[in-house]
Amino acid sequence: MFMEDAFPNVPMKRAKLVSGQVASAIFEMESLNKKEDAYLFVMLFDHRLKPFINFMNVKEVFDKYGDVKNLESSLYKEMESLNGATDINLALETAYFHSQKFINGEMDVIGEVEPMTNSVFNPTTGDDITIPNVRCLIFTDGEQYTGKGNEKIERNPFADFQYNGHFVNVLMGAFHGENSNVGYSQLKSIMGNCHIHNSPQFFHFSEASQSMRMRHLFRMGSGPGFCEKCLDNFITDQKK
Ligand SMILES: [Zn+2]
Repeated sequence: MFMEDAFPNVPMKRAKLVSGQVASAIFEMESLNKKEDAYLFVMLFDHRLKPFINFMNVKEVFDKYGDVKNLESSLYKEMESLNGATDINLALETAYFHSQKFINGEMDVIGEVEPMTNSVFNPTTGDDITIPNVRCLIFTDGEQYTGKGNEKIERNPFADFQYNGHFVNVLMGAFHGENSNVGYSQLKSIMGNCHIHNSPQFFHFSEASQSMRMRHLFRMGSGPGFCEKCLDNFITDQKK
């Protein structure tokens, strides 16, 4: 699917667009003070899983790839090789498993972690919620399809994600394509709601003009933002 043109009348493959966006967003982290304390896990999927950046810290990622173009072409090459079915359930369950293990400090290669936190005010309950600075973004342009029948996204495993004994759903979803696609409503329907705005933690990209917005989304991932409204605010703040 990612090998189709990114937008109508735009002769650029989605994989090309997405690899460029992700690589640029990662290299935006160059301004981080403690690059060795920020971890990345980038996993590609079709009906299989392919860890691309497997819990490396940002410094290691920069050392390995050197510059944004190199990272982009490596990512594109890997995406090109994944042209099978689309197992969103497998991707979500695996991402949840590793994220929970990471935050629990149960990853042997990393060990104990003390995440930075964001404090978010919930206007409905009046409570402050502490959210660890861990985000998972699933990005797809397709629907659940394994060819085995009964094709649906089973559940949102991140509803079980826990930090310090509290449930906090850190999953965001992004869909690339028309909102009439089955994949759009399928993914949107399992997303949790933003603690601040009570809107789905879901983003939609359907036009070339939204490319910058996508890049902002990746950057927002390191702050207290979860939904389209958070993203609007984030972009406004960036302009100030
Ligand atoms: Zn929000």
